[in-house]
Amino acid sequence: GGSASASTIKQVKLERESELRIEVCNETPLKLRLNGSAEIFGSELAPEMWLTFPPRLKFAVFTWYGATIEMDGATETDYTADETPMVSYVNVHAVLEGRRNRAKALSPNDSEASQGPRVIVVGPTDSGKSTLSRMLLSWAAKQGWKPTFVDLDIGQGSITVPGCIAATPIELPIDPVEGIPLEMPLVYFYGHTTPSNNVDLYKTLVNELAQMLETQFARNAESRAAGMVINTMGWIEGTGYELLLHAIDTFKANVVLVLGQEKLFSMLKAVAKSKPNVDVVKLQKSGGVVSRNAKYRQKSRGYRIREYFYGLANDLSPHSNIANFSDLLVYRIGGGPQAPRSALPIGADPIANPLRVTPVNIDRDLLHMVLAVSYAKEPDQILSRFVVLS
Ligand code: ATP
Repeated sequence: GGSASASTIKQVKLERESELRIEVCNETPLKLRLNGSAEIFGSELAPEMWLTFPPRLKFAVFTWYGATIEMDGATETDYTADETPMVSYVNVHAVLEGRRNRAKALSPNDSEASQGPRVIVVGPTDSGKSTLSRMLLSWAAKQGWKPTFVDLDIGQGSITVPGCIAATPIELPIDPVEGIPLEMPLVYFYGHTTPSNNVDLYKTLVNELAQMLETQFARNAESRAAGMVINTMGWIEGTGYELLLHAIDTFKANVVLVLGQEKLFSMLKAVAKSKPNVDVVKLQKSGGVVSRNAKYRQKSRGYRIREYFYGLANDLSPHSNIANFSDLLVYRIGGGPQAPRSALPIGADPIANPLRVTPVNIDRDLLHMVLAVSYAKEPDQILSRFVVLS
């Protein structure tokens, strides 16, 4: 990519139920114009207008009825595909829609029956979980629902900075460029990019988030009927699998969508035998999902953090605040200094309490680290006070 040649406009004709898959070039944005009707991951595109897509974005323009697309700018790749799992995805949406309508029609006093679908999307890395979550949310929002999006993926989450789990209501179809609006998300800061650093802490935060949402749903019949869509991590083996089961139970998920893995599907199907109101559904992975290696993921986390502070188009200017070290208290959860063996009774192992909140010295080790601001009044409340990032 990145050639400086005069721009050439490329025109692509899309047949019905096909998609144009695009990876924008790494250095320069891509301009695109639609003629007809098409959507990007469930959000309809405005026709007849040049839209700009930032470097590195990977997406597909899908049309149900046929469309023509013009592209101006370089891409890493672009190709059309007429084999997509979109029909099966939209069928899932239709079933969820039915459940939402049923929940809405029932008395809001019956909190059980008036609960809309709680969908959890699971699958290995690069199976298209975030993308499917997004489509289901955008299609629901288009029909006027305000479903809650829960993102448990601390590595590649799409609500806020990496290292957090978060939830937010989705009131409008998600903008293909801007992503999820950061208006009033509920954010719990975990502080690492993989749950294996502190599994107990991860579970505790998932519990806290679920409890907070439960309280909100109890007060709000509209969002209860709309239900939620939960995106998860691609870690599905061993502890990762246990964390999936934990999330299914904690959020009382009643629809489990399994993307692209037979083994995970059959394992979850077996588990669900003892849970009559949980439906486990297998869905095909889209051939368009782009695989990303560990290095790429690390890089994109860096971009996400930058975007959080500076905006997608470098249009934010974060301001700094000066404070005295003596006015700030910094804490770390788990993994704090352990008592030396010599200070313990003979034979005892120095086991760190994973949920212990320990003060941290403010020194050079904190340089280039992302910390969260807590609303806790006392250190022992830190775990249960969510963090507001906006
Ligand atoms: P993770 O393992 O990080 O959780 P995931 O399973 O959630 O990944 P996605 O993030 O949904 O996978 O998809 C991976 C990448 O592929 C994203 O950049 C997404 O935009 C892109 N992608 C998904 N579907 C398509 C498609 N049909 N055409 C083009 N690109 C796509």
